[in-house]
Formats: sequence, C-alpha cells, structure tokens
Amino acid sequence: MLPLHTRARVKGVRDTAIVKVLTVDEAVQAEIDPERCLIWLDRRDGNDLEKTGRPWAGIVFAGDLESKVADGIAVDRIETPGVVAPGDVIRLTELSSRVSVLYRRGSNSNTMLATERCNSFCIMCSQPPREVDDGWLVDEMLETISLVDRDEAQLGISGGEPTLLGDDLLVVLDRARRLLPNTELHILSNGRRFADEAFARTVCAVRHPKLTWGIPVYSDCPEIHDYVVQARSAWDETLVGLHNLAKFKANIEIRVVVQRPNVERLGELAYFIFRNLTFAGHVAFMGLEPIGFARANYEKIWIDPADCMDALSDAVFFLANRGMSVSLYNYPLCTVPVELRPFSRQSISDWKNTFLPDCVGCTLRDECCGFFRSMDGKWKSRAIKPVTGES
Ligand code: SF4
Repeated sequence: MLPLHTRARVKGVRDTAIVKVLTVDEAVQAEIDPERCLIWLDRRDGNDLEKTGRPWAGIVFAGDLESKVADGIAVDRIETPGVVAPGDVIRLTELSSRVSVLYRRGSNSNTMLATERCNSFCIMCSQPPREVDDGWLVDEMLETISLVDRDEAQLGISGGEPTLLGDDLLVVLDRARRLLPNTELHILSNGRRFADEAFARTVCAVRHPKLTWGIPVYSDCPEIHDYVVQARSAWDETLVGLHNLAKFKANIEIRVVVQRPNVERLGELAYFIFRNLTFAGHVAFMGLEPIGFARANYEKIWIDPADCMDALSDAVFFLANRGMSVSLYNYPLCTVPVELRPFSRQSISDWKNTFLPDCVGCTLRDECCGFFRSMDGKWKSRAIKPVTGES
C-alpha cells in the first residue's frame, strides 16, 4: 500500500508542473515533449543525461543529489521510498515540498478527480462534495491523459459528479478517445444529468471505444434511493438517465452500495434491475468505505456484512441465474459464504488497501480484497477470521 503523496526537496518549479517520470532509455524512445519529462536518475552524477542532448524538464533522484546535475526542475530526498517511480505522472507545485502522484504505472486503480462539486449529497459519500471553483482540474486531467502510458489497461474518472463539467467533459473524453483508445475508461456518475436526452446524446457521440459509466441505483423504491442520495427526484432522473444512455448505446455498470436503508429490499432491487435495466453490462454490490460522510452517518448506514449475506445471496443469484454479470466489491472473503465467493473481486484500490493481523495464516489472503485503510474496530465484521480449511 503506497500512498499517493510524499515530501521531497523540490527545486525549479514555477506555478504547477505536471510531468512524467521516465528513465533515460525510456525517455529517448518515448514520443513525449522533453519539457514535460523528468528523468529518473539511478546515479547521483547524472552523466547519462548529457548524452541525450534533449532539453528535459529536469531530474528525479530518490536520494540526495548533493550538487546540481542539470538545469530545470530537481526533485530529490524523496521521503517515502517507492511513492515515485519511472512511468508515473506527478504534480509539483512552486514553493511546496509535496509530490503528488496523479498516475502510477502498474497500479490497479488510477483515477482522475474531475471535480469536487456534486448535485447529490449521499449519506455514505466517501468524497464529500465541496462547492468550489475547481475548473483547474479539467486542465489537470487533460495533461494527465496526455502523459499516461499508451498501453495502460484502465483509467478511472470520479468526483464529485463528473457530468457537472458539461462541455469540458466532452473535451476530456475526446482526448482520452484520441490518446488512450485501448484503455478501459470507467466514469463514476450519479447519472442524473443524463435525464437530459440531448446531453446524453452529445456525451455518447464522443464514442470512446472502451468507456463504461458506473451509476448507482440504491433501491427499487424511489424514496429509499432519494434518501440515500439526499436529493428529491434523484431516482427519477437517474432512471431516465440510464435509459437515455442505453438508447445511445453506452456501456453501463449498476453500482449498489449495500447499507442499512437498502439491505431489506435487495431482492426487490435485483428483480427491478433484471426487469428494467437489463441492458446493464455489469451489476456490482458493494460494501461500505468507512470514510467521509460514511463515518459521520455510521449509525444510519452500518450493517455488519454478516447480516447482509442472505439478502446479497438472493440478489446475486437472482441476477446471475438470469445471465447478468454480477460482482461483489469490498467484502472480505471470510464474510462471504463459500457459494458467493466466485463473485468476489479484489476491488479496493491498492493505495487504500490493507489487511489485519487476523489475516495472518489465512489461506484466502492472496484472493481476498482485504480492507479499506480507513477501517477501524467499529466497522469490523464479527465474521472476520482466518480461513484455514474449506470454508
Ligand atoms: S481473514 Fe483476512 S485475508 Fe482471510 S478472508 Fe478474512 S479478511 Fe480476507
């Protein structure tokens, strides 16, 4: 579990720099503007650098450079080893020692933040929305996309609510379509803005070949869904939005965060999804992430996974038996009945993921999703225990 930020000695940055870190060998072969590339030095003296004859933006050295080896940006004395490595895209800011990783080569969970603004206010939101002017994030996404490895398997976009970007979202999607057409692009959205058919049509017209919209439906009952998202008529808008997206042939994933208000009707929700949202390519039932509003609303939302499994079992098998693709996210395997485990995925982003001392000796450790790093004792299921035999 590597964090996405570290401290370092940073010199030579004006305003903000979004740059890619590459080894010398990679950099000379890469089709990349040299002025957007920091060279990863293995040796303090940086001799190899001179041979390239290119105006690189600067250098990165994990240890102490001691003396200047090149003009431009210099990053050294990296506090947390491994946080920055060749292939990564990083953000540096003038007069700041903070180094932020925007894209990590080899990570299972690279996600770009589109905006902190949102038109919902979900009771278990892990990234509580803020009404701020954060239009600069659009430029950051555009720059990041242009520096992501072209063979990257997947890239996420989340918020806040990405569709609030309006036309700027089209620009971002178009850049991803042109530069990363083979990358699975996954966007988390509440889907409400797609109730506007013209907007749905325009967004879908970008036609990124591997774009999926992950959209939550928390209940078949509008009142429960609207309570969870804390917005009147949200269920109506999301459902119309989903049908508009389907009309324009978008790939759709339905996301159901399982929590106290919706657990009793999971069976009805599965029936509803099968009857009304059959076009969804995937349905994910998800355990809670104990951070953000989820922590503040613990009493309202927490239910031990051990108490959800009968309802989850009914819902998952109802859909799977009718040919729909279904997954369980964020449920440690020891909380999941044996027959449901084939649906479990290692869903927790690598930089948020951890395991407990309880997991020592567990035979399922390598297949298990483990826990969110933000979990503490009151979010721990009573079913957690190492699996040592067949169950
Ligand atoms: S004991 Fe730990 S590794 Fe084993 S199934 Fe439970 S959470 Fe996963």
